[in-house]
Amino acid sequence: MGQAQEQKTILQGWGRLTADPHRVVPVPRDGAAFPAEKIFACANGRSYGDAGLNPAALALDARGLDRFLSFDPESGVLWAEAGVLLGTIQRNLLPQGWVLPVTPGTQFVTLGGAVANDVHGKNHGQAGSFGCHVTRLDLWRSDAGVVTCSAQENPELFAATIGGMGLTGIILRVGVALRRVDSGWMATETVPFSGLPAFFNIARSREPLWEYGVGWLDCTRADAPEGVYFSANHSQPGAPVSSSPVTAPAARLSVPFALPVSAVNPLTLRLFNSVYLAAQKRKAGAGVTDMWRYFYPLDAVANWNRLYGRRGFYQYQSVIPWQGAEAATAEMLAAIAGARQGSFLMVLKLLGDRAGPGMMGFAMPGVTLAMDFPNRGDATERLFQKLDTIVLAAGGRLYPAKDARMPAGMFRRGYPRLDEFLKWRDPSISTAMSCRLMGW
Ligand SMILES: Cc1cc2nc3c(=O)[nH]c(=O)nc-3n(C[C@H](O)[C@H](O)[C@H](O)COP(=O)(O)OP(=O)(O)OC[C@H]3O[C@@H](n4cnc5c(N)ncnc54)[C@H](O)[C@@H]3O)c2cc1C
Repeated sequence: MGQAQEQKTILQGWGRLTADPHRVVPVPRDGAAFPAEKIFACANGRSYGDAGLNPAALALDARGLDRFLSFDPESGVLWAEAGVLLGTIQRNLLPQGWVLPVTPGTQFVTLGGAVANDVHGKNHGQAGSFGCHVTRLDLWRSDAGVVTCSAQENPELFAATIGGMGLTGIILRVGVALRRVDSGWMATETVPFSGLPAFFNIARSREPLWEYGVGWLDCTRADAPEGVYFSANHSQPGAPVSSSPVTAPAARLSVPFALPVSAVNPLTLRLFNSVYLAAQKRKAGAGVTDMWRYFYPLDAVANWNRLYGRRGFYQYQSVIPWQGAEAATAEMLAAIAGARQGSFLMVLKLLGDRAGPGMMGFAMPGVTLAMDFPNRGDATERLFQKLDTIVLAAGGRLYPAKDARMPAGMFRRGYPRLDEFLKWRDPSISTAMSCRLMGW
């Protein structure tokens, strides 16, 4: 590891459920001697649970790998180091008319993190997952040094690495094919709805017309959930790219420190959800916004995860295959209301049938539902066990990027290519999540 200084640093997932000191060193740019101990990569900490944590191993911080290496303006293929943030790519290449083809709900994710969890966006039906656009990877392995992989070269290692939770090697460099846009403006449509059947009708009917779509639902009333569906397309020619805002608006609010107790309780939930929904309903109809506001609305409040107080919070994100999706979603809402453990608005998205290249990718055709819950210990876990039963019965699975507690048996049932994947794990890499779900 050369001259790199080890530091003890508290590393946390985005849910702030643990706060353990870790020994942290930067990832060396060109894969020097691999450390002779258990290690793992950590990046920008936007995974909610323990995917990027392990107090018993040496953390290799990938964020110093922050350089663009080449960009081909003909094909749109970017070759960059794995610690580059997605927002940095958008900001630098939008002025040339290129953006990421798939982006998650925050711009503060690194390329390596996007590959490791094979992230999806609001356009899965058309674009698939992030891995569908990855052209090549340079991976640093303890048993083979730096290995290049792609769909043609070392294809199985490539497939294991996309969605491989950082367990197949340290990702040093990523090639990704960007997509052309006319501008950073988005044409939008905002449609309020009442009840789950209405959500499914609207979402399905909008899919052929709109590339992007996401529903926000107030689940504090399971009997009559109210929501808003936001569709968008990159705007049509006519608005020149030079007129687009090329940077995200600065965060309008910030939560400066963790509150002693969670600010999220049944009263504040109802209040927030009804105020938010009323504001969105006033915007119903056609509109125009910039891509920063459409893709990354939560980034407007810096450190919003501190609102949940010192005990932190969980995100529970499932995907349920089409058949039975509506019934299973209704059952989950009823279980949440019955447990009196509401979530801030829950997010519903349709996932399409474009298969990703990864063995362990989360996305599959169906409906994904994401909801945040303050950590109330056993009461929260009891609710999750009910939700697990519903998800498993419907043939669904949970998203490791958001997970901090799924049982190993549920992981195995949800990810049928697990045994094939295990052959490609790097023997020196281990995270708290891999210990919990795979035994090491
Ligand atoms: C507000 C918010 C919204 C989100 N919205 C979405 C969404 O819409 N869709 C979606 O799919 N996800 C979403 N996410 C989850 C997020 O995209 C993923 O958790 C992502 O992997 C985080 O990347 P990171 O750079 O922060 O990596 P970390 O969270 O630090 O690490 C994530 C994993 O990647 C591995 N890793 C990171 N860098 C490397 C590397 N260089 N080499 C090897 N392994 C590496 C780590 O070991 C770990 O397993 C959201 C998260 C937040 C906080």
